[in-house]
Amino acid sequence: MDLGIKKIISGLVKDPSKVITIADAWITASNPTKPQKELAEARWNICIQCPEFRAKRDITGDPYCNDCGCPLQKKIFSKTFNECPLGKWREVDEALWPSTQKNKKTIL
Ligand code: SF4
Repeated sequence: MDLGIKKIISGLVKDPSKVITIADAWITASNPTKPQKELAEARWNICIQCPEFRAKRDITGDPYCNDCGCPLQKKIFSKTFNECPLGKWREVDEALWPSTQKNKKTIL
């Protein structure tokens, strides 16, 4: 089994609440708001310069994080503040994450 997928499964066994976080990121990635897209792009720019970045998973061919095993094209849409396992998203999340928390259906 691919090492990245093994990491995801062992992480879910240790912390089943992550299932909701991961599912939410996948849903957000399918139809992001403009602020969510901007935050994801900023996170992506950090990931591609990170030593833990892997461009192609053996089985699925998608980019993933070698530290947590997560698929990065989905993880970057996480609604959790600074979800990066090494805390590398903190600076961009401090700048952009708050705007993703606004309800897009309000006028304020
Ligand atoms: S999520 Fe964090 S540790 Fe993983 S590749 Fe991105 S910046 Fe690196």
